[in-house]
Amino acid sequence: HAKKCGKNGYYWFESQMEDELQFRNSLETGIREGLAAGEFLPYYEQQIDLESGELTGFEMLARWHSPRLGLVSPEVFIPVAESIGVIAELSEQLIERALEDARDWDPSLTLSVNISPLQFNDPWFPQRLLKLLVKANFPPQRFEIEITESCLHENVPLVRSMIVSLRNQGIKVNLDDFGTGYSSFAQLRSLPFDRIKIDRSFVGEIGREGGTAQIVNAIISLGQGLGMPITAEGIEDDAILANLRALGQLKGQGYIYGRPETIEEVRERLKGLGRLAAPAGPRHGANA
Ligand code: C2E
Ligand code: MG
Ligand code: MG
Ligand code: MG
Repeated sequence: HAKKCGKNGYYWFESQMEDELQFRNSLETGIREGLAAGEFLPYYEQQIDLESGELTGFEMLARWHSPRLGLVSPEVFIPVAESIGVIAELSEQLIERALEDARDWDPSLTLSVNISPLQFNDPWFPQRLLKLLVKANFPPQRFEIEITESCLHENVPLVRSMIVSLRNQGIKVNLDDFGTGYSSFAQLRSLPFDRIKIDRSFVGEIGREGGTAQIVNAIISLGQGLGMPITAEGIEDDAILANLRALGQLKGQGYIYGRPETIEEVRERLKGLGRLAAPAGPRHGANA
């Protein structure tokens, strides 16, 4: 390949670009078709109270079962869905499914969903969300959204009024992946989040040298000062879990509790825990 650095390199580069463009085009078409065909499915990750070890709810994570590409990660299709303007439609389709899935969960369990910063550009977003909740007969108090720090680069007063309006309806608003972005303490103080989720890049390093435990500790203190409880994401093993439990009263999630699951697996799990509210009835029809 060393020889291709000259004139040939240009052609190689061009054909590589063509490949990428083609892949990108097929992604875009695939996403549009997949939306119409219902190929996007909610998976669920357990959220645990680390103190008691009890399940408190699930975070919904989007998965795409593409007939052409196989199982596609949200890290791949979410940015594309954002750029072609279908992220709100995709998100609402998934939320609708998840709310239906959650109908027979024990009423103590919460449902948390990730929301793209772009969805915050729609002033009717809180209304649209509430409409979905009402339609599914799901209490807003059991519903949480997660937004990442990139939201904070946008118009902060607008983001603030959005959060306030969601919270006024009983919906909880959590800050996801905290520590990876550039949010200032001033922004954090002016935005009334219900909870802060520490990014897994800090959690995963907590046993090792290099002061990560101090960073996690500092975030926990920050949360205490602001009245925001903390969730640690990305707990992979017992050592990390033990370290976290020594640091404070936290919620947590991660592979130590298993990989994100399908609704069938969730139902099995809940049945085992005695936390299915009612036998799974007809998926459609009257809400009893
Ligand atoms: P996130 O919200 O921070 O979700 C956590 C991600 O970490 C998930 O990846 C999860 O499967 C993974 N994870 C959980 N526990 C562990 C662990 O112990 N170790 C490691 N290494 N990873 C762990 P996933 O499902 O691939 O999702 C990636 C990101 O895609 C999410 O990050 C979220 O930002 C975004 N996403 C997922 N679903 C949606 C959605 O419906 N809408 C939007 N806007 N974004 C979504
Ligand atoms: Mg999340
Ligand atoms: Mg996260
Ligand atoms: Mg993340």
